[in-house]
Amino acid sequence: MQVNLLMAPIEFLKGVGPKRAAVLKKEFSIETYDDLLHYYPYRYVDKSKIYQIKEIQTEGAYMQFYGRVVRYEVVGQQRAKRLVALFEDKSGVIELVWFNGIRWIEQLLAEKREFIVFGRPTLFNHKWNITHPELIDPKTQSESPFPLKFYPLYNSSDKAKKSGMDSKAIAKLQLQLIPQVVDVVQETLSQEMLQKNNFLTMKQALVTIHFPENPEMLNRALLRLKFDELFFTQLRLLKLKLVTTQRVKGHLISKVGDYFNTFYHNYLPFELTNAQKRVIKEIRADMGSGRQMNRLLQGDVGSGKTITALFVMLLALDNDLQTCLMAPTEILALQHYESIRKFLKDMPLTVEFLSGSTRITKRRVLLEKLKNGEIDILIGTHALIEDEVVFNNLGLVVIDEQHRFGVEQRAKLWRKNSIPPHILVMTATPIPRTLAMTLYGDLDISVINALPKGRKPIITRHFYDRDRLRVLDFMRNQIAEGRQVFVVYPLIKESEKMDLLDLMAGYDAMALEFPLPEYAISMVHGKMKVDEKEYEMQRFVKGETCIMLSTTVIEVGIDVPNATVMLIESAERFGLSQLHQLRGRVGRGGEQSYCILMSGNKLTTESKQRLSAMVNTNDGFEIANIDLRLRGPGDIQGTRQSGMLDFKIADLVKDEKLVSYTRRLAQELLQTDPELSQPQNLPIKKFLDQMLKEYVYYGMIS
Ligand code: ADP
Ligand code: MG
Repeated sequence: MQVNLLMAPIEFLKGVGPKRAAVLKKEFSIETYDDLLHYYPYRYVDKSKIYQIKEIQTEGAYMQFYGRVVRYEVVGQQRAKRLVALFEDKSGVIELVWFNGIRWIEQLLAEKREFIVFGRPTLFNHKWNITHPELIDPKTQSESPFPLKFYPLYNSSDKAKKSGMDSKAIAKLQLQLIPQVVDVVQETLSQEMLQKNNFLTMKQALVTIHFPENPEMLNRALLRLKFDELFFTQLRLLKLKLVTTQRVKGHLISKVGDYFNTFYHNYLPFELTNAQKRVIKEIRADMGSGRQMNRLLQGDVGSGKTITALFVMLLALDNDLQTCLMAPTEILALQHYESIRKFLKDMPLTVEFLSGSTRITKRRVLLEKLKNGEIDILIGTHALIEDEVVFNNLGLVVIDEQHRFGVEQRAKLWRKNSIPPHILVMTATPIPRTLAMTLYGDLDISVINALPKGRKPIITRHFYDRDRLRVLDFMRNQIAEGRQVFVVYPLIKESEKMDLLDLMAGYDAMALEFPLPEYAISMVHGKMKVDEKEYEMQRFVKGETCIMLSTTVIEVGIDVPNATVMLIESAERFGLSQLHQLRGRVGRGGEQSYCILMSGNKLTTESKQRLSAMVNTNDGFEIANIDLRLRGPGDIQGTRQSGMLDFKIADLVKDEKLVSYTRRLAQELLQTDPELSQPQNLPIKKFLDQMLKEYVYYGMIS
């Protein structure tokens, strides 16, 4: 069969052989012709022509221009010192910037002003500039290092280069490969879609991405390939969702019974927000549909996700089913356990806790009871998904997560019952829409979009270390009014000892400022035993201490409505969503609360942006968007290992519109042709099937 040519081992390609094949495999995971074909350049060099400055339209390509340096000056101090030159051709001007070799460039510019400038335009503050361009004397225009004038640059590695596999060699392999395989490349979209979007065909796109004729074609190839990545991701997710809703029967949870009603009318200590009520309704409708629920519950810190989940759990219990709640860390799980026990203390329900550190004897009894159906609610860590944990009739699983809970782990939960349980995933902090669409695209989404009434927005301020005296005064005032204060020190895993030292030093300093007997201080850190920690926390919760010093363990920690100040030391060392989480520890009572971000004087641009985002907004969804913009999706906590975001060229931040567009198209397509059986959609089906074959989750349920 022709298609198999793409599956040919890479060593058969002329110019490769076994030794280089081993390098390609090890360094770039290139094993087949197909893998090489999809090993895209990261950049391009365009010496095909002299461009006019006004023609610049993409970032990323090296281009050349012909013109004059009209002005230049050295600006900035020390590290920020740079030479900025204004370069102009007939069509416009562009800034050239050098950080290194300033003296040399100055000398050159003193002699000559007319150049061919070769470099990569990038957009900075809405203006195009080129950093460290090559300045070529027009008279000595040199030969390009490659037969082509518009050529690709491929990522290589030191090891690969040693075996001769540098960018240029990879480009040569592509030149070898592409003519051989281009005819067997399959189109993945329907004619209709190609036409409607004015897309290049897959064939054209693949040839062009490696060897573009011009920047315009390159843009079209990029768009086409990005589209494919995003479109098929969305299609896969939606198809998965469709398969589950069509084929997987769920427990019918329709009855609102005594547990729900009794709790609601007799024990609920506050009024639910409208957002909470709406979400409970959405979930009830879903669980009452006869299908199995897979739902994501989003809500800002403090929006009351736990109580919402508790109501959903009560619904399951009212329908004679067991439920469990799983959290990513022991402390968080324990906290849920405590607070749910407290809520339910007057209800005839059995709530138990299980984690990796549950003793064997206790565990045995617990597992036995669970199997017999004597436990109603089991709360714990990932220990809950172990095979030995067997329920009598598990109806609902609530997952409170910080880290992405893998599809495989979810699949494991499914198998815990003959009828798979309903699944409700709660995010610890909000995530941006495009990310949610992709990471959780196979789930339905409910959003709690309001905070409980009476909460005053937290006031956030950023102070430098030199302002410490003012901050200490402020703390004293708050404490004098009967309030309590959190002080959090950063925790960096690589140097737990150092962190502890930081914390201890902080403790000593605080103890001097806030001496006994007037003030009492609690301290909690990761090296303490669970019961010690518990004891210290309890002292603070009861109000016996007025300051709680801790490393970030507090992040997932305790609920103390009387605490009104969250002071974060070395705030520049925290991630944005972590800062927001920490801030959410205060502002839980009726009093005005404050978040104080302490930082050193020297801040990077990014940490400045992070801190000012915190000062400027309390909205977790907005924070999440800024975080995504600043760090990119790969670095957002927990998403890294998910594999869902392994795009070759698409970018969830920059291509946000394309994400939404592909989502919509995928939805429309599945609405009109859920099985993708119409003849024009065959190419799509073929490609999708190929993708899905590799997907465990699908294999399990289809
Ligand atoms: P998160 O969504 O961050 O998990 P929690 O579920 O921990 O938030 O709720 C934060 C605090 O708000 C808890 O003390 C909880 O009991 C309380 N709470 C939840 N819902 C309401 C409400 N409708 N009115 C008042 N307080 C509420
Ligand atoms: Mg929570």
